[in-house]
Amino acid sequence: MPSATTALITGVSGQDGGYLAERLLAEGVEVHAVSLSGDAPVDGVHTHVGDVTDVEGTRALLVDLAPDEVYNLAAVSSVARSWDEPELTARVNGLAAVGLLESARRAQERTGRPVRFVQASSAEMFGLPDRSPQDEDTPIRPVSPYGAAKAFAHLMVDVYRHRGLHAVSLVLYNHESPRRPEQFVTRKITAGVAAIAAGTADRLTLGNLAASRDWGWAPDFVDAMVRAARGERPCDYVVATGESHSVEEFVAAAFACVGIDDWSAYVEVDPALFRPVEAQALAGDPRRIKHELGWAPTVGFEEVVRRMVEADVERIGPPLRG
Ligand code: GDP
Repeated sequence: MPSATTALITGVSGQDGGYLAERLLAEGVEVHAVSLSGDAPVDGVHTHVGDVTDVEGTRALLVDLAPDEVYNLAAVSSVARSWDEPELTARVNGLAAVGLLESARRAQERTGRPVRFVQASSAEMFGLPDRSPQDEDTPIRPVSPYGAAKAFAHLMVDVYRHRGLHAVSLVLYNHESPRRPEQFVTRKITAGVAAIAAGTADRLTLGNLAASRDWGWAPDFVDAMVRAARGERPCDYVVATGESHSVEEFVAAAFACVGIDDWSAYVEVDPALFRPVEAQALAGDPRRIKHELGWAPTVGFEEVVRRMVEADVERIGPPLRG
C-alpha cells in the first residue's frame, strides 16, 4: 500500500507520540494531532487543541479531516497513577477510544475512503497470566484500573472491525527510551544511577524489584504501529521482544554502565511503592507480527539500558563515582 497522506495522532506529547510524529513527517505524511495544550513536540505537526474525552469535539475534527490513519496513543499512561485516578483512567483509556473508533467509522462513511485505526493496547490487560510468554490468544484478566480500561478499548476495536473499520489493536509490552518520564521505573533508575554516579544523589528508592517486564526500544514499537496501520489484515498483534528481565536486573545493568558493580548500598526498597496488585511477570510472544508484518525488535535489553543511562549521564554530568 502506498504511504498515507494524512494521519491523526492522539497522545502526541508522550514518548511514543513524539517518535511517531517524527517518523511520519520524515515519510512526507501530513500529521495532525489532538493535544490538550496545543503544543507539538515536533515542528511540522498540525495541532488541534482538544481533549479526547470530549467526544463531540474530537468527532467534529476527525469526521471533517477523515485521515488515512488514526493512531490512538492518548492515555493515562502510568499503571501506578491509574490506582490514584481510576475514573479518569476509565474515561481516557477506555471511553475515549470508543469515541474515536465511532468517529473514524463516520469519517469513513462520509468520504467512502478507508480510515485505518491503530489502538495502543497494553500487556497490562493480561494481569496475572496463566502462561508465559503471552500471545494474542492469552485470556484477558486485568488486575489494575489501567489494564481494565485498556481491555475495554481493545475489545471495542474488535467490535468496530465487525462494523467494517480497518482497526488494529497492538498489545504493547513495555517500551522505553531516554524520553520516558521518570514515573516509569526504567527512567527513574537511569536518572537515579546517573545522579548517584555524578555524586548529586546518594540513594535510589524503589518498589518491587522482583517484578519482571519485557522491555523494548520505543522507536521499534512505533515502527510496529506504522506497519500495523498499513498491513493487509486488521487484527491484534502482540508487540514484544520475547525476553523478560526483572527490575533488579535493570538496576544491576544500569549501575554497571557507570562502573558500579556493588550497587546494593545505593538502593533501598520502600514497600509504599509496591502496587496493590501487581502483574508480576510479563513476557510477550511476537511471532504473529514478525511473520505477518516482518517486524522485529532492533535493540536488545542491555542496549536499551545503556542508551538510557548514557542520555542521563550526558544530561546530569560525568560520573565521579564508580
Ligand atoms: P508498567 O509495567 O507499565 O507499570 O511500568 P512501570 O515502569 O511503572 O513499572 C514496571 C515495574 O516496575 C512494575 O512491576 C513496578 O511495580 C516495578 N517498580 C519497582 N519500583 C518502582 C518504582 O519506583 N516506580 C515504578 N513506576 N515502578 C516500580
